[in-house]
Amino acid sequence: MFTAFMFSRYYTYMGSNRMKILYKCTFLLAAIGFLMYIIRSKSRPQLAPSILSSENLANKDKNNNNTSFNNVAGLEEIKEELQETIDFINNSNKYRRMGARIPQGVLFYGPPGTGKTLLAKAVAGETKSTFLYASGSEFVEKYVGVGAKRVRTLFEKAKKEAPSIIFIDEIDAIGTRRNMDSNNEKDQTLNQLLVEMDGFNTDETIIVIGATNRLDLLDEALLRPGRFDRHIYVGNPNMKAREQILEVHTKNKPLDNTVNILDIAKKTHGLSGADLANIANEAAIIAVRNDRPRVSIDHFNAAIERVLAGLEIKNPTVLLKEKRTVSVHEAGHALVSKILKIDMVQKISIVPRGQTLGYVLRFPEDDRYLLTKQELMDKISAFLAGRAAEELIFNEITTGAKDDLDKATDLARKMVCDYGMGSLGHMAMDESYVKHNYDIIRVEIENLLDKGYQSALKILRENRDILNHISNTLMEEETIDSHQLDKIFETYKKPIDYAT
Ligand code: ADP
Ligand code: ZN
Repeated sequence: MFTAFMFSRYYTYMGSNRMKILYKCTFLLAAIGFLMYIIRSKSRPQLAPSILSSENLANKDKNNNNTSFNNVAGLEEIKEELQETIDFINNSNKYRRMGARIPQGVLFYGPPGTGKTLLAKAVAGETKSTFLYASGSEFVEKYVGVGAKRVRTLFEKAKKEAPSIIFIDEIDAIGTRRNMDSNNEKDQTLNQLLVEMDGFNTDETIIVIGATNRLDLLDEALLRPGRFDRHIYVGNPNMKAREQILEVHTKNKPLDNTVNILDIAKKTHGLSGADLANIANEAAIIAVRNDRPRVSIDHFNAAIERVLAGLEIKNPTVLLKEKRTVSVHEAGHALVSKILKIDMVQKISIVPRGQTLGYVLRFPEDDRYLLTKQELMDKISAFLAGRAAEELIFNEITTGAKDDLDKATDLARKMVCDYGMGSLGHMAMDESYVKHNYDIIRVEIENLLDKGYQSALKILRENRDILNHISNTLMEEETIDSHQLDKIFETYKKPIDYAT
């Protein structure tokens, strides 16, 4: 935004007379000087712990927070999930009358730039609550007790201005698992946070929203009921969501008719909402710099290139090539899981998520404690179905199945060594037995894996039309939910019932 402003200034000066230029230049220099001063004083190392004007700890944002769910594009399921929290705040009395405790902690997790902060702000906007922003790293101090005191101050402020939303970004900075070589200051800070969350007076409506990229690092105490007990994954957008996000961020920009938002959405597979906002802004800056009255597709293409160059992600053209492989791979998992009725397939996605390029989200149909040998074999087939689909369609396999192989092998090993389900008899094998007979055991494991793989391949071959349909839909839409998947199956004649 700042850069765009500078450029437009520059162009308006071109036609003015000299005095005016001189005058305005002085003004501009003064402005730049002032800005530099602000930036430097912000980054200046602090000698003593800055005690605790709550103003600089958390920005109060009550009166000028106009953010609402309209500013958040895509993420429909998450907005729906947050409706409940919003209702808790807006109608807190209704819940209190029933004696219900208002749940106070929501944790957003997922990659950066996906709209976690934006969502928290929107919840505050939708409920007209005070929005208090803090970053976990602000609480990390060398001096014992300082972080804890900051936490206390933050919550006091929230209570005073309730209803409020406390948003703690990068909560992992204070909330990582406590361990043996613990750090006294950090533990105190985390403890204080726990104390504050437990100690809410039931008359005050305060919701704490935490955000992290690393849910796995958080201390379990933080995740317990009554604290951050709602966990919501906020991931990178699929194509439709990318289109909507681009629409939000180009609403205030004059576009010429070469620009097709959907095409841009198609080209930006794997990018986050923040990347897209950045692209829209860069495109506008480039248009200004080229002295054009409207933003054109060329400006967008240049902006995409520039934003991607600054990102440490793979080249998008590589991503596009891989997209086809990932679609087939995930379609394979989904098809075999569904036909073997292993779990309920909830969602298939080829939107990259952390290190994974695609995934099939499955939920068990019901709680199971005992599994039959056949069911375990079916699970192995489902694990290996991604690779089998690659072989069937491309006659070539990739490194993408690494995790699947780990899981399948682990399961096969358990079947042989722990469950007595190989051909070595009903014997549990202890470690030393395994060590001394590893050659026989390995053959057993290989046999199970091969059997599972072959049956996956057979299912895929016999249902190749469905496989193609699923993978093509994934290429087009990037995610498929359980209803869409059911529809695809209905389109074809009833698949052979393989489950026993
Ligand atoms: P996070 O907190 O997950 O790192 P932010 O909420 O700070 O991400 O997002 C950064 C910016 O990216 C937002 O201010 C907004 O401009 C843009 N953005 C991200 N996701 C969305 C979205 N779903 N809809 C609209 N804008 C988004
Ligand atoms: Zn896989």
